[in-house]
Amino acid sequence: MKKKGVLLVVSGPSGAGKGTLCKALRQNHPEILISISATTRSSRAGEQDGVNYFFIDKENFEKRIDQEDFLEYAQVYDNYYGTPKAFVIERLMEGTDVLLEIDIQGALQVRKKYPEGVFIFVLPPSMKELKNRIVGRGSETKESLEMRFSSAYEEIDFVKKYDYYIINDTVEEAVHKFESIISAEKSRVFREIEELIAEFKEEQPC
Ligand code: 5GP
Repeated sequence: MKKKGVLLVVSGPSGAGKGTLCKALRQNHPEILISISATTRSSRAGEQDGVNYFFIDKENFEKRIDQEDFLEYAQVYDNYYGTPKAFVIERLMEGTDVLLEIDIQGALQVRKKYPEGVFIFVLPPSMKELKNRIVGRGSETKESLEMRFSSAYEEIDFVKKYDYYIINDTVEEAVHKFESIISAEKSRVFREIEELIAEFKEEQPC
């Protein structure tokens, strides 16, 4: 029996450093696949279609909603974002671990459809630091910046709906914590025990 991959779902307020954390984790673990979402927002400087996101228009996005192409989708800050379903499910069935970096509404939808996923909430070390990080990115308009910051206050309560939290102070420590979570999750009895029992039983005592 082939072991399924683990679905890692990461959320947290804008400025918590989810992107940096996921990138750093991937550097240590290139075997983890980061799913590429579709979005209707415009690309930022340096972003590439098919690398950071699949940038598509609203009409195309809504067509794909009707075709049930998304594992989850949500409207975040006036734009649609969605996770391509077939690609993610196929990789998990092949045994690849897949990471989704998605907002809270999307994560809660995934939780319903795929409860064996691992749901991780990334927190900033403080709200002051969160604001510094959003401002420091320099990529937002004043309006978008204020929207992201006020949403962050509301979003923090949702940590209760997740399995784990990671305070993203230094990236090294946060990656270490992330690795510990993955390692513990891979030893969960419900994930691997049938395969383990079969392996033990195959072996003949001498
Ligand atoms: P950004 O515009 O900064 O790239 O992303 C804005 C928010 O959308 C972030 O919280 C990010 O995690 C979330 N997001 C990115 N891709 C998806 C997705 O496929 N689905 C959902 N629900 N949220 C997403």
